[in-house]
Amino acid sequence: MNPPIVYHPQYVAPIPENHRFPMAKFRLLYELLLRDNIVTFNDVYQPEFPDLNVIELIHHFDYINAYCNGTLESKAQRRIGLPWSEALAKRTCIAVGGTILTAKLALKYGLASNTAGGTHHAFPNYGSGFCIFNDLAIAARYLQKLGLVEKVLIVDLDVHQGDGTAWIFQNDPTVFTFSIHCEENFPLKKQQSDLDVPLPEGLDDDGYLQILAQYLSDLLSQVKPDLVLYDAGVDTHVSDRLGKLSLTNTGLYRREMQVLSTCVCAGYPVASVIGGGYAKEMSALVYRHSLLHRATRDIFRQYRL
Ligand SMILES: [Zn+2]
Repeated sequence: MNPPIVYHPQYVAPIPENHRFPMAKFRLLYELLLRDNIVTFNDVYQPEFPDLNVIELIHHFDYINAYCNGTLESKAQRRIGLPWSEALAKRTCIAVGGTILTAKLALKYGLASNTAGGTHHAFPNYGSGFCIFNDLAIAARYLQKLGLVEKVLIVDLDVHQGDGTAWIFQNDPTVFTFSIHCEENFPLKKQQSDLDVPLPEGLDDDGYLQILAQYLSDLLSQVKPDLVLYDAGVDTHVSDRLGKLSLTNTGLYRREMQVLSTCVCAGYPVASVIGGGYAKEMSALVYRHSLLHRATRDIFRQYRL
């Protein structure tokens, strides 16, 4: 028995070949998970496109409309950092659908993971840093609206602060935002999460995992969420092009095991998204992302979910 995993062929949209955003990783990750028997076809769930009014739970109508129609002004487009295309707009929406589906599956099965998601730099009326619509925020609000959850904890361990998510929920006591990130990194202007833990450059596996352990289980008993949304960005890896921390593959796997086992042990369901990860060598990057799904499967079996 394996945990559910969410994927859609439209997670990959064509972008210029030398663009630094590693678009191909989503499909390659899915293929690696199948090849390594981390999942079988039976474990794969395909999301649907969310209705516009679901995206509107977080984003302004004018921004959604302009983005989806390719009429965003060039400055706003540059801030996103991805060249617009109809396929990319579709990809953006289906990835949001993917995180929503992952969240629903996590409530049903205890654990579920997306093979995309984690666009945490997106604000209600603009996108930034490769992030267009904030899938984590939309999923949290939408599940609340459906009456499936009341309280959500967002654990954001991408190396960059989850500034969009922090801003969106700054006055909302029903969604707790927790971000551990490298202080000397994008975004320059940090927002205030409910709990921010800025880390110094170059922190290694043991230092990182100790800090995580200091906070996570206390936070769970304090917040008592109905659902944990976990952004497992691997740009914390020592070889990442945009990160400035020094985690190894072993450290990343230990991190995923620590997050998932701490939550599952205490009875909290976790929906995970892959978050950021940037490397020239695509296969190494894809392997790093797959550590989340490997850990998810291992915890799922260990706890017989
Ligand atoms: Zn990142």
